[in-house]
Amino acid sequence: MRRVGYPAEIVDLISHLKRLPGIGPKSAERIAIWLLRAKGEFAFEFSGAIRSAKEQVAFCRFCGFFASGQDGCDFCNDPDRNTECICVVEQPTDMLPIERTGAFRGHYHSLGGKISPLDNIGPDELRIDSLVQRIKNGEVNEIILAVGSDVEGEATASFLADHLKRIDLGRPLAITRIAQGMPAGGGLESADELTLFRALDGRRSL
Ligand SMILES: [Zn+2]
Repeated sequence: MRRVGYPAEIVDLISHLKRLPGIGPKSAERIAIWLLRAKGEFAFEFSGAIRSAKEQVAFCRFCGFFASGQDGCDFCNDPDRNTECICVVEQPTDMLPIERTGAFRGHYHSLGGKISPLDNIGPDELRIDSLVQRIKNGEVNEIILAVGSDVEGEATASFLADHLKRIDLGRPLAITRIAQGMPAGGGLESADELTLFRALDGRRSL
C-alpha cells in the first residue's frame, strides 16, 4: 500500500510558500490549506496581486525606490521636495521609516546594499555612480549618510564620505551622518557599550 500525501498541486503550493522569508514547513502547509479553503475569490485576488505587483513595479532609475507605471517614483516626481539635500540609505525600504518621521523633506538615494567583502559586495556593486551623477547634475549641497551602524554600514559610510569629498563640484558639499545613540524610551542600563559610546560621541549642546 502506497503512503498517501497531498495532491501534486498542493505539494507545489507548499513548496513555493516554504521559500518565503520566515515561513517554515508547518506554516507553509497551514497557509496552503487556508488558501484553498478561503471563501470567495480571495486566493485568485491574492495571486492577481502578486502578479500585478511583479509586472508593474520597478525600481526608480533615479533614487532606487519602487516606481509603478511612470518614469521615476513618487519621491522623485514630487516638485515640493527640497532638491538641495539627498539622504543616502542602504535599501529602498529604509526610505519610508525616515519619511514617516516627517523630519526630512529632501530626496533619497538607495545604494541597493552596503559594502560587505564577505558577501563579495564592493563599491562597484552599489548605486554610487548614479548618486555622483545626481550630485553633479543637480543643486545638491548636502548628503546625509543614513546607512546602518554595523561594521558594513560604517565601512560604506567612510568609503562614501571619502569618495564624495573628491568630486570637483565648484560648490561646497556638506556630508553628514545621522546621529547614533540611545533608543527612545531606553534606559542607560539596557544599552550596550557601543551604543553608549556613540551616544556620548554624538552629543550636542542644549
Ligand atoms: Zn525615485
